[in-house]
Amino acid sequence: MNRISWDQYFMAQSHLLALRSTCTRLSVGATIVREKRMIAGGYNGSIAGGEHCIDSGCYVIDGHCVRTIHAEMNAILQCAKFGVPTEGAEIYVTHFPCLQCCKAIIQAGIRSVFYSADYKNHAYAIELFRQAGVKVHQVEHSETKHDGEKDELLNDLLSRIKELVDDESEMDELKRRADRVMHSS
Ligand SMILES: [Zn+2]
Ligand SMILES: [Zn+2]
Repeated sequence: MNRISWDQYFMAQSHLLALRSTCTRLSVGATIVREKRMIAGGYNGSIAGGEHCIDSGCYVIDGHCVRTIHAEMNAILQCAKFGVPTEGAEIYVTHFPCLQCCKAIIQAGIRSVFYSADYKNHAYAIELFRQAGVKVHQVEHSETKHDGEKDELLNDLLSRIKELVDDESEMDELKRRADRVMHSS
């Protein structure tokens, strides 16, 4: 029997939460864990009761969507709301945290960050984690790996088809459809 590790288990939970994201720019999920128990979770989304990017489009200022609260921040704020200590906790995030979330994680007393995908890993965030003694680990997520393999296969197939199909618009349409199916989550 193939038993998944705790790291894979909590990371899977974060990937599941990411599917709840309401911002179309990036689906992120975060799970806060203490003593092998999930104490909070969050995803990239609007304030409770607010408009969603998926309904109204993103509210972009200087290249960032300002409508959403990041997954890590939402998870930490859930702890604040219900009075759950985050001191000494661990956080599992689908993507490497941005600088703002990095600071919030450190300040919340979280001691370890597990992330799945690299995402614009900011040099200052890496430095701040190091200074604060927060351990950062990359956890391979089986689905992420699987997606990579699917993408690779798809690209191989598409380039082979391209050799056979003359019609460019037909080829573009195929690519669009493939993209939609492969990245529908
Ligand atoms: Zn958005
Ligand atoms: Zn962030």
